[in-house]
Amino acid sequence: MSHDSDKTIWQVFNLINLAVIVYDDKNQNYTLNQHAKTLLKIEDESAVKKGAFSNVVLRDFSNDEVVNIEQLFSSNITTVLLDSESTLQLLNIDHSIIDGSISMLTLEQDRTLTEQYNFDHIISKISTKLIDIQNDNIDQQINFALKAIGTVLKADRSYLFEFNTDNETITNTHEWVNTGIIACKDRLQNVPKVELPYFFEVMNENHLFQVNDIELLPTKADAEKAEFKEQSIQSVLCIGLRFDEELVGFIGCDCVKTKRNWSKIDLIRIKLVGEIINNALKNINYKKKLQLTQQQLINANTKLNKLANTDALTDIANRRFFDSTLNSEIKRCARHNQPISLIMCDIDFFKRYNDNYGHQKGDDTLKQVARALKSVCKREGDIVARYGGEEFTIILPASNKEQCQKFTVLIQQKIKALNIPHEFSSVTPHITMSFGYFTTYPNANTNMQTIIKNADIALYKAKKAGRDQICSFE
Ligand code: GH3
Ligand code: MG
Ligand code: MG
Repeated sequence: MSHDSDKTIWQVFNLINLAVIVYDDKNQNYTLNQHAKTLLKIEDESAVKKGAFSNVVLRDFSNDEVVNIEQLFSSNITTVLLDSESTLQLLNIDHSIIDGSISMLTLEQDRTLTEQYNFDHIISKISTKLIDIQNDNIDQQINFALKAIGTVLKADRSYLFEFNTDNETITNTHEWVNTGIIACKDRLQNVPKVELPYFFEVMNENHLFQVNDIELLPTKADAEKAEFKEQSIQSVLCIGLRFDEELVGFIGCDCVKTKRNWSKIDLIRIKLVGEIINNALKNINYKKKLQLTQQQLINANTKLNKLANTDALTDIANRRFFDSTLNSEIKRCARHNQPISLIMCDIDFFKRYNDNYGHQKGDDTLKQVARALKSVCKREGDIVARYGGEEFTIILPASNKEQCQKFTVLIQQKIKALNIPHEFSSVTPHITMSFGYFTTYPNANTNMQTIIKNADIALYKAKKAGRDQICSFE
């Protein structure tokens, strides 16, 4: 082609209502006609020459995959979805090769498709995505659904309102606005329902609020009229969202630039989108409830477990916990070839204490003793439990005889340091304890009862030897 005829052709191209993109493989550059530049919102023409279409998002309509202009020249894609800042458009693509090195793409907006087939396609996609409650992109999907319904209903704004838990106020949670339209979402948070009495009267009854021209609203809708006027709204269409028949929110579309007589098909479509969003929100809600119940159950279980394993008076481990722990600790020490020690201890002359100071004082002393014992058992794995009455037991995993002896001396000192007066003791005028312990290297056949029995024998020996003593099982 000569330079002149080239120029003439582009003059013609710039006049037609069809986007034309020509690629010259020899010079590796792109040329766009005026319509293509407008459609793809191309501002920097020099960058485009080299194929920099980075801010244009096109999706292959057949599989939803993102494609770029360069790829369109070398593929058989026939329809793409143009997802621009404010709207969605379907474009039919035609690809022709002019001569060996020059090829041409035409992109034609299919208005009928964009409005109908396209919408249904988008909706089915949204619904699949929203049905999946695992989807963490719920907000993104709702925004997309609002954009779709807003575009197809030729509205200027679409939105989702949810009722707050107080059931007295509503909040605009999601919003789409067309180019040049002011967003209202931030302003519409926690709006009292009483400010829109007519709207809610109609909504509660019909789950639908349809106004073609707000000037025609009845006088009792003055509050609504004022609010709509503040947002420059001319026509409104809202559909209620329900959980178990109860109104929990609504989605809607506003027309600002021009009035719209909402058609039957508009109604069907907004209902469809409403249902999809409703189901998605329900699923999320159920999921949240389920998670809450599960957490409550876990908490209750933890509490119950603690309760079942704790001695009510002293708040340390009880016999039940001791039994199961000793068993598993024996096995663990056997596996690791480690020793295990068990201490049995008993308050001296405690019957006399109770008889003379009273049961309440006796209880207080038991608590103090338990606390003292627990404070010594700092190492992870050391377990102190109330074995019964005024008898306590301590499991020391991985402690040999020498370590256990040292540990027991420490406890003995700790109890003495409490300095609890006991005038009726035959040992000293203070509370003392007798201690018996047993250390062994367990194996797979080691019996828990034997360990307890041996520690008990040692304790008996300590009592026999005059109390306030430490004895080991030999
Ligand atoms: P010993 O030095 O031989 O151990 O004599 P003791 O009096 O301590 O032993 P005995 O077994 O004769 O008495 C234990 C007493 O412990 C009996 C009871 O009055 C007291 N006792 C057991 N459980 C509790 C309790 O939960 N609260 C209170 N206050 N006293 C308890
Ligand atoms: Mg005793
Ligand atoms: Mg006793």
